[in-house]
Amino acid sequence: MYQTKNMELEMIECPKCGSDFPKLRRDKYGYNFCINCSTESPKRGVPVMKGKGDHTWVELDIMTQEQYENYEKLNKKSSKLDKTKE
Ligand SMILES: [Zn+2]
Repeated sequence: MYQTKNMELEMIECPKCGSDFPKLRRDKYGYNFCINCSTESPKRGVPVMKGKGDHTWVELDIMTQEQYENYEKLNKKSSKLDKTKE
């Protein structure tokens, strides 16, 4: 069992989700929300095939986590090939 140093940290409530997070985080780093809420969604690079016929190339689309999830949903819908179990 490890004792974390949390006891030294003053905790404040995240106005977004209600979880506690270290006040230090706000005072020192200027985050108004807890880690879960304050992080900008990480950007993801998704290779996307462009073009037609023998003139195709792959571009890396940069999307936010949200966009990426939508993209994955669409992908799942359109490719039911492999996934028979679910
Ligand atoms: Zn939060």
